[in-house]
Order: sequence, then structure tokens, then C-alpha cells
Amino acid sequence: PYNGPSASDLLKRRKVYLPTCLGPFYTHPLNLVEGKMQYVFDENGRRYLDAFGGIATVSCGHCHPDVVEATVNQTRLLQHTTVLYLNHAVVDFAEALAAKLPRELEAVFFTNSGTEANELALMIARLYTGYHDIISIRNGYHGNATSTMAATAQFFHKFNVVQTGIHHALNPDPYRGVFGSDGVKYANDVQDIIDYGTCGHVAGFIAEAIQGVGGVIELAPGYLPAVYSIIKKAGGLFIADEVQTGFGRTGSHFWGFEEQGIVPDIVTLAKGIGNGAPIGAVVTTPEIAKVLTYSNYFSTFGGNPVCTAAGLAVLRAIEKDKLQYNAFVVGSYIKERLSSLMEKHEIIGDVRGRGMLLGVELVQDRQSKTPAKSEMLKITEHMKDMGVLIGKGGFHGNVLRITPPLCFTKEDAGC
Ligand code: PMP
Repeated sequence: PYNGPSASDLLKRRKVYLPTCLGPFYTHPLNLVEGKMQYVFDENGRRYLDAFGGIATVSCGHCHPDVVEATVNQTRLLQHTTVLYLNHAVVDFAEALAAKLPRELEAVFFTNSGTEANELALMIARLYTGYHDIISIRNGYHGNATSTMAATAQFFHKFNVVQTGIHHALNPDPYRGVFGSDGVKYANDVQDIIDYGTCGHVAGFIAEAIQGVGGVIELAPGYLPAVYSIIKKAGGLFIADEVQTGFGRTGSHFWGFEEQGIVPDIVTLAKGIGNGAPIGAVVTTPEIAKVLTYSNYFSTFGGNPVCTAAGLAVLRAIEKDKLQYNAFVVGSYIKERLSSLMEKHEIIGDVRGRGMLLGVELVQDRQSKTPAKSEMLKITEHMKDMGVLIGKGGFHGNVLRITPPLCFTKEDAGC
């Protein structure tokens, strides 16, 4: 049994020592003390089904035994920087990771977070092309440092600091976007930005295949392939932010970009890559990677032995437990069941996403699409009381986000 501080004690101390605008979820925040696969446990031993853990780094399940074992074993052996000395863990993981990506993407840089991975990707694009302008999509999220905050396009994730050289293209959002599901029309906006807002050349384009923080928005069909050729013509690199969509989460594919039939120049990874271990990565071609050899680039802990041992164990667990397949089967099932709820509940405006990256957008009525934000808060609270954790998000704060660890079962889905 847990003997540590209570939730109310923690809340009081957090307010003093961990000042942040983002408080913990829920009117009465949960004090989680243990996790086991798709479950987490609070201070009283109450079990919750974690249908949102996928976003908070967990891919193959809380404390997956194989990942724990690999992490503990490596922690016992050695934890150090990989900058100065050789160690097999970082090489083993880089090799295994590259094997999961298109053949030309085999140069891996490890970082400690998704923000860092995207910062590095943007810098590489600028160095490689010699251009400065980057195009990202409105409503996307890419991180909280200078360039990544600039690429992020939601005002409530931005601070008033200098964020230059980024242009935000129309969001190809089939549900609320101005051109509906016409991906090519949205892509024309990228061409317009290049024509009217840059020297005619850009360093690159960055996007999530499905916007996660933005409310699980699948980009309109045909958008990314059309943008890909526009960006190539403008001399830029295509950066796929796979921080949320990677590692089999979308079910049909291991990477989100694969569904769109394009091969990015740079892929960025984090979250699920380490099942909770703080690690991120940038994967690109050896030719592009060369730009970082012209000066000294290093990260003290990026690719450290413990995190890369965990990462390798995660890749193996995804294969061994057939988690991508599970994401497809169980995720499709959850989506189907959620969609069928639309017949009964006018408040459900849209059900979307793929695999275990799902969103339910709540509206006052389907005609006006007025966001049902307070209802969404009620639902997340109520579900917590019933023992199920789900997420919230979207620009209007009215999207339920369902992103469980990939070991989630049909029984968990409540059928
Ligand atoms: N990219 C995407 C798509 C994300 O969802 C996030 C985090 N929500 C990031 C980048 C930034 O990752 P981190 O919080 O690890 O810096």
C-alpha cells in the first residue's frame, strides 16, 4: 500500500514549487502511484483504465515488463553520455530504428524530447537548404522552444517572444476547414505562401500526419502529397513530425506519413519511442545529416545507454505483442462503436482518427458546430469517476482524445 503524501498535500506543494499555467487535469486531480500496462492506480489503490496514456509517452503499456527489465539492467551496468565513448546500446537502437523506416532514412540523432527533435530538424533543414523560411500548418503542435513554438500554431501554446521565419498554412481540416475534404485546394495555400511570403524558396515544411494536440485532425486526403511536390519545387525539405503518430499507433501503418504515400526527408520522434523514457530522435538521410559535421553538434544525454536500451525494448515489444495489429483491430472497433453513438447523441459532431489515435468532437448542434466545451469537461470528469481516463484537446477545447497504450483490448473498450 502507498504511504506517501496525499493528493491534497501534493496539490498545495505543487502550487508553490511547480508554478505553471497548466494545472493537473480534473477538479480533484488524481495522485497516480503505479502503472501496469493499460491501467494506472491512485493513492487509494483504485484502478483506472488509461485511455490517454499513449499521448503521455506510453506506447506498449505502463511498466511493460520487457522495457522495465532492459532499463533496469542497463541502469545497473552503465549510464553515461554517448558523446565521448562507444557503447552498443545507442548503435543497436539506431540500427533497429532505421530498419523500421524507408531505406534512405538511416542517419539518427537522438535527443531528450520531441521539442528538441523538432528544433534540430528545423535547424538541419535551414542549414541544408541555405534558406530560412519554414511552413507549418495552423493548429499544429511541434514544441515549446523558439523555433518549435513558432511552428506551433495555436495562440494558447505561444508566448510573446521572437518567433521568426515561420508561415502558417491553412489547416486542411475536413470537419471545420474552408475547403472541406479537398486536400489539393488547401495545398494551394502553401504555394501562395511561397509565392507571396518568401523569396520563392523555403527551408522546409513540417506537419503531423494527424494533428494530436490540435484535436486528432486527419489532414484532408491528397493534401500531403500535393504539398510534398510544392515544397520540393521550392527547394525545401519535408519534415514528418511522428511524435504522436509513430510506432504503430495509427494501426494501418507503422508511421503516419506512410498512409499518405510520401517519403519525408526528415522524421522526428518522441513520446512512445521510449514508453516513458525521455528520448526523442531525428532520422534523415546520410547526405542531409552531413550538415551537422561542419561544426560540433552534441547532446550530453541524447541517446544515452539507458534510454536507448529502453527504446530497443519498446521496438521489440511492439513486434512481440503485435501492437500495431492490435492498434488497428481494437482502434477500428472503438471508432466504429463511437461512430454508432452518433445516431443517439446529437452532441457528437465528428468521430475521427486512425488506430489508437482517436478523437470525438462535441458540438451544441451539428448545423452550427458550436463547440460544446463545458459538456466535454463534464464527460471527462464523469468518465474519471467511472474509472476511465481520457484526454481533452482541440483548438476549441471540445475534442475527447482517446489514445490508450497499444495493448488496450476490446474488453477495455467496454463491449
Ligand atoms: N510534436 C508533437 C506532435 C507533439 O504532440 C508534441 C508534444 N505534445 C511535441 C512535438 C513536443 O514534444 P515534447 O513535449 O516531448 O517536447
